[in-house]
Amino acid sequence: MNLDWQVCSRARLSRDPRFDGKFFIAVRGSKVYCRSICPAPTAKEENCRYFASAAAAAEAGYRPCLRCRPECSPGTPAWLGTSNTVSRALRLIGESGLEDGGVEVLAERLGVGSRHLRRLFLQHLGATPSAVANTRRMHFAKKLIDETGLPMSHVAQASGFGCVRRFNAAIRKTYHRTPTQIRRIAHQKTSLPGNQYLFRLGFRPPYQWESMLAFLAARATPGVEEVTEGRYRRTISLQGDNGYFEVSLDQKHEALSVHIQFEDSRALFLIIERIRRMFDLNADWQPIAVRLRTDPSLARRVEQIPGLRVPGCWNGFELTIRAILGQQITVKGATALAGRIVSAFGRPFSATGGMTHIFPSPEVLADANLASVGLTTARAETIRALARAVCERRIGFEGVVDSDAFLARLCEIPGIGPWTAQYVAMRALGEPDAFPSGDLGLLRALNVDGVRELERRSQAWRPWRAYAAMYLWNSASDGRSLARKTALSRSEKTPMVKTTARERTSRERASIVA
Ligand SMILES: [Zn+2]
Repeated sequence: MNLDWQVCSRARLSRDPRFDGKFFIAVRGSKVYCRSICPAPTAKEENCRYFASAAAAAEAGYRPCLRCRPECSPGTPAWLGTSNTVSRALRLIGESGLEDGGVEVLAERLGVGSRHLRRLFLQHLGATPSAVANTRRMHFAKKLIDETGLPMSHVAQASGFGCVRRFNAAIRKTYHRTPTQIRRIAHQKTSLPGNQYLFRLGFRPPYQWESMLAFLAARATPGVEEVTEGRYRRTISLQGDNGYFEVSLDQKHEALSVHIQFEDSRALFLIIERIRRMFDLNADWQPIAVRLRTDPSLARRVEQIPGLRVPGCWNGFELTIRAILGQQITVKGATALAGRIVSAFGRPFSATGGMTHIFPSPEVLADANLASVGLTTARAETIRALARAVCERRIGFEGVVDSDAFLARLCEIPGIGPWTAQYVAMRALGEPDAFPSGDLGLLRALNVDGVRELERRSQAWRPWRAYAAMYLWNSASDGRSLARKTALSRSEKTPMVKTTARERTSRERASIVA
């Protein structure tokens, strides 16, 4: 665990939000641990201890502060990328929906020994994998108590405690209060229908909400997604249930405000984890900016647009289809095609606004007559092949442990090449170093002639090349918003330059950002 004591101390005294969630402060006298932004009076330095994770503070016997609510801090940042195993393990803990499979199961999935995994966790987070999973379960329960009106028996289930008795005991032990007493402190003002929830999901500032929204708006699939009046909305389907969510910025609280409608409250943890990933809420922008600024061609862009994130996706299958549709045509064209696929093959869904359908499932698309909605024979076959691979479980977008192996399997599908694979790695796997170097928009933004040259330049941006790509795509407009539209659509129409990659996968043609 490499916490710089002086940095922590300065961040604590200035209540610096950029450090929120990167470490926690425990106060010896009160036995409470806090976020760096806690509004409570600051304790004397000699009474403070610093921990790399909430789980580490909890294991040392500290309780979460009821004022700054450590459960609301942004998630563990991607700088854990220094240990791939730990970041993958955290991802799996997030995707497993808090089920307690134990360290052995986790280690086996990661292909490492459980003792080694425990050692890595202690080194990077100061806590064992089970302590991390337990703290997350506890924090999520606290969030449900504070932010929803769910009956406590449902809270117990949704946060993975199984039975109410275990849940009550754990909450009392941690907070020295009953769940009902905690809910009373929260002073909830809004009351929503039973299947609707309102959550606040924190990020570490700065966060470029406008750019995130603009990116998603241009690619919103008609019928499934829409962006209006500063809000992103979409329909969702999970474990046989359908619903939708809506996301907007809550500037005052340095958070995104999320409104979810979904029948089964047990799915809330997974839904929220996915939304966090989709909006890249765990990112820690500071080290990314430090790295990217070292390249003079990126420095000004980073300065001009602080807090740019890599937009993720709700569903990897859906995103990959969008990427395939985006090969060689404009974003607008791809969006229109996606809309036609949805209205022909999606499941009708009635919600407010333009959300009329659930995106078609792999089972439906595996046999769909996609030529009927205007796809070329080759592209229709690529989509059907992908859908079949997902149905036959040869490809799965959840619980991906080895990204390289996953991408290699993806590239076995005719019509999917390195550009699509890297784009999927960026947006569906959340790989911060993914980089579609064959992309014409990227080559143009830097004015380099070849893929090899771009690859060489990009070495300096590692392990944050996905963020560099976002800066380069974003700066196609160079801040001149009027020129933006024309600049983007012109480059989007242009097919990918000739490369050896293209020769290898002759059917893949990439445009700028699918
Ligand atoms: Zn506090």
